[in-house]
Amino acid sequence: MTNRSQQLFERAQRHIPGGVNSPVRAFRSVGGSPCFFASGNGARVTDVDGNSYVDYVGSWGPLILGHAHPAVVAAVQEAAAKGLSFGAPTEMEVEIADLLCDLLPSLDMVRLVSSGTEATMSAIRLARGFTGRDLLIKFEGCYHGHSDSLLVKAGSGMLTFGNPSSGGVPADLAQHTLVLDYNNSAQLEQAFAEHGSRIAAVIVEPVVGNMNLVAPAAGFLQTMRTLCTRHGSVLIFDEVMTGFRVGLGCAQGLYGITPDLTTLGKVIGGGMPVGAFGGRREIMEKIAPLGPVYQAGTLSGNPVAVAAGLATLKLIQAPDFYAQLEQKTKSLCDGLASAAEKSGVAFSAQSIGGMFGLYFRRQCPQNFAEVMECDTAAFNRFFHAMLDAGHYFAPSAFEAGFVSAAHNKADIATTVSAAEEIFRTW
Ligand SMILES: *Cc1c(COP(=O)(O)O)cnc(C)c1O
Repeated sequence: MTNRSQQLFERAQRHIPGGVNSPVRAFRSVGGSPCFFASGNGARVTDVDGNSYVDYVGSWGPLILGHAHPAVVAAVQEAAAKGLSFGAPTEMEVEIADLLCDLLPSLDMVRLVSSGTEATMSAIRLARGFTGRDLLIKFEGCYHGHSDSLLVKAGSGMLTFGNPSSGGVPADLAQHTLVLDYNNSAQLEQAFAEHGSRIAAVIVEPVVGNMNLVAPAAGFLQTMRTLCTRHGSVLIFDEVMTGFRVGLGCAQGLYGITPDLTTLGKVIGGGMPVGAFGGRREIMEKIAPLGPVYQAGTLSGNPVAVAAGLATLKLIQAPDFYAQLEQKTKSLCDGLASAAEKSGVAFSAQSIGGMFGLYFRRQCPQNFAEVMECDTAAFNRFFHAMLDAGHYFAPSAFEAGFVSAAHNKADIATTVSAAEEIFRTW
């Protein structure tokens, strides 16, 4: 029964465009109407009709400790009781900045913001201000938030200057963004050969999580590092999703590449609005009030949000935290893949740390074009069947999934056996 969710969704559409405050929540690509959630606890969420689900979305990544972790909730309550916001410096901001710079050797300095979008938008302005150049390289299928310069996709063919992929983005602005194929090192080399002296920055998801999960091919990130160094361009790793999700050292630690700037969000806020961008001192010193690149925020470094982030960042440093997370996530993927194989369903799955990708395609995709070959109708069937059985996956074939520390072996096992049942009569 989902009567209350349906009633709320109808009511929501009267005063909220599409009934949602962020588009993927609307279930448009999978069909049907979204679940309205009432509460979450550990690995589970409960909707307003009282249905309970094992949750593999985790608020799209932040909830690495699961829902309503007692230590995070207590930290938030304690901070809230002392005042919700000051618009003046607080001690906890210094603590989280120190901690982020300790955990990530590529960060000499860091600035807090309130979302991943703000972090990437500001990092790009900073890279442009630092280099005095305008041109930006991004990769098709990578999502870096919804600021103008980043809502651009490729035209057809190689090295096409971008066209906006959203209404309301000036073509003039999109022209400064060059969109290339993910995992295509040769194309990247060609772009630098042609435009190197004009390229302010390359921004990349070092592991992509926004066109489903796509892993970096051997050498791709290294090529990027080498070219940026050679041409004086700023390499920005957008780790808003991968940061403290694929490992304690983030993707840059996992692959051994040092970016010039890093953007963070999601996990570092533990479910509250926190983003950050940081990196090399000489670049970060260009930010106001030290330098000419302006960036500011009324609620930046908000004490209640930072309290949730700090509590989360403390707990993920426990020994074996990532080994266990990785093992559980891998067992989910292996279990689903072997269930599909038993029934002859064209399916593949892979995980990196606590994030995973499921594909209705025989092999894991390597780029946007291959992701587009996945069978979305099959995904939508799978999604709804799993939802009915009490397992909440992202409502789109083009999103990564997340396992939290609160998921136990039994949660994973019930999800795998639900999938076995569904694939048996596929
Ligand atoms: C989620 C995400 C963003 C945007 O973050 P918001 O907090 O939603 O603004 C940017 N980059 C990546 C890689 C993301 O996954």
